[in-house]
Amino acid sequence: MKILVVNCGSSSLKYQVFEMTAKTVLAKGLVDRIGLTGSSLTHTREGRDKTEIACEAQNHGDAVQIVIDALLHPDYGVVTSLREIDAVGHRVLHGGQKAIGSMLITAEVKEIIHECFALGPLHNPANLAGINACEKLMPGTPQVAVFDTSFHQTMPPEAYIYGLPYELYEKYGIRRYGFHGTSHKFIALQAPAFLGRKAAEVKLISCHLGNGSSLAAVRYGKCVDTSMGLTPLEGLVMGTRSGDLDPTIVSYIVEKAKIPERKVNDYLNKESGVLGISGVSSDFRDLEKAANDGNARAQLALDIFAYHVKKYIGSYAAAMGGADIIAFTAGLGENSPRMRRDVCRGLEFLGARLDDGRNEATRGKDADISTADSTCKILVIPTNEELMIAMDTHEIVSR
Ligand code: ADP
Repeated sequence: MKILVVNCGSSSLKYQVFEMTAKTVLAKGLVDRIGLTGSSLTHTREGRDKTEIACEAQNHGDAVQIVIDALLHPDYGVVTSLREIDAVGHRVLHGGQKAIGSMLITAEVKEIIHECFALGPLHNPANLAGINACEKLMPGTPQVAVFDTSFHQTMPPEAYIYGLPYELYEKYGIRRYGFHGTSHKFIALQAPAFLGRKAAEVKLISCHLGNGSSLAAVRYGKCVDTSMGLTPLEGLVMGTRSGDLDPTIVSYIVEKAKIPERKVNDYLNKESGVLGISGVSSDFRDLEKAANDGNARAQLALDIFAYHVKKYIGSYAAAMGGADIIAFTAGLGENSPRMRRDVCRGLEFLGARLDDGRNEATRGKDADISTADSTCKILVIPTNEELMIAMDTHEIVSR
């Protein structure tokens, strides 16, 4: 079975085609600058050089047509007829409370995505535009929505209700939703499998550490807590996002620092986090280099980040009554031995003991980086959100 995975952003469309028997990628690419001048397609057929082509993509419909043409192309295409694509899996940011898992797309599911426009204003409209375009250009091909939020819908109310008047939850759906769910789900399946264990028998802390970062507490295969909230701003200090704050700080900085109220969200989302603390960069490679060169604020930003991750790990171990696996994933989690070392230092009380040699030697591959006597295993598991979307889509259309 061949599955096309589509991830529509407001001005881009990323795609991959999977062959599900061997779970291999046949082709992948990106249509950039949708709705702007100078759109381009970057397409790679597995085993071939990258193809880059200038194109005109006024909207997501044009972008889907450009992808279809590339997939059918006699030189670098991967199918001879669109009928060879058995299903399309769409990444959708927000599914609110109604999307408790991935869903075959129907009019009702599109309505759920539409209802969540206010919760995901930058992503959900683009996600829906991509779905509508695929429906039009590939009529009869089943489409599946895979939500970033749905893996977290198993959280109990004590984890998702804020300390606010309950009517705000009832009237406006203000609650913790959580994000990166597709990545955390992949880790929740892959990490126990790597150890030859079953997801249903382990307590796992999944640490997705990238530009955006979040942790999830996964007890016996089900998410019981996660660090992002109503929006991806809550939780850990991130590349450019503040993470957890005293809410009073918002009115305080409007008054004292004269940051216009309408700009506060941007300030907290784009100018804060390790970028704001260090004044150097949001990129952890730059921060590690600057800290090595003696930049004290870059070191402070790294220390704060590691401390926050450690604190969440401790709280999730408490929430689950222990942890069997701590798994690191995403750009930073997969590739930075230094950050993993700083996070794990002091977690020995949980039975988590890092093997320094294994940690240093591990970048971007599945590995156990804990010592043989570590009762809580510390793993590196590269995430693969596109494959997870393809797997969910495969499962749903095979029912
Ligand atoms: P996102 O998908 O959220 O944009 P990624 O998961 O790609 O982010 O992670 C990007 C982050 O990972 C960047 O801050 C980058 O600096 C960091 N990163 C990638 N490789 C390394 C590395 N070798 N050492 C330290 N940090 C790294």
